[in-house]
Amino acid sequence: MQLLEDRIRKDGKVREGNVLKVDSFLNHQMDVNLFREIGKEFQRRFAGEEITKILTIEASGIGIACVVAEIFNVPVVFAKKTQTKNIAGDVYTTKVESFTHGRVYDIIVSKEFLGKGDKVLLIDDFLANGKALEGLATLVQDSGAELVGAGVVIEKGFQIGGKLLRDRGIHLESLAIVDGMDDKTGEITFRKQ
Ligand code: 5GP
Repeated sequence: MQLLEDRIRKDGKVREGNVLKVDSFLNHQMDVNLFREIGKEFQRRFAGEEITKILTIEASGIGIACVVAEIFNVPVVFAKKTQTKNIAGDVYTTKVESFTHGRVYDIIVSKEFLGKGDKVLLIDDFLANGKALEGLATLVQDSGAELVGAGVVIEKGFQIGGKLLRDRGIHLESLAIVDGMDDKTGEITFRKQ
């Protein structure tokens, strides 16, 4: 998505440890006009698919998922991260290792908000090693809902997540795929799509 790639080139900052900072428009300050264009692009890419629910993970997926949900005209649910040891039986839960914090979280979704009959599109801001989306896909599977696909704003194509999800047969759409970035020069290379 050209508009998004241009914005990443203009405002993205490459940090050590393969981290791309896009705090000025994606996951701290949020450019809602850009989010709307992103939402429309997901709508184009998942055209013809029946989607009844958007599922994301707190915190940085929530803003973008809300705008996407408005465009698809469906509810949005976010998985909560918790470190609670004893989780009651009225939730679906799995473990997720955080790329940015290096910690393992339990993520939970109430059984009230996900279940048989739901056709779910996963949405997240970044795809790195794929742990967040794999965790969400596990919750969908455990709930008996159908996983329609996954939409991510920025995939770091040099990390393993995209391959893992595609190899599992998940319909994955990434609006910008970063194939390389240099923390010395700040140079970012995108995959041609
Ligand atoms: P994964 O689970 O695919 O390894 O990582 C995805 C999650 O880590 C995303 O939800 C995102 O919040 C965070 N993340 C991964 N890589 C980056 C990055 O380069 N920049 C930012 N801002 N967040 C990232």
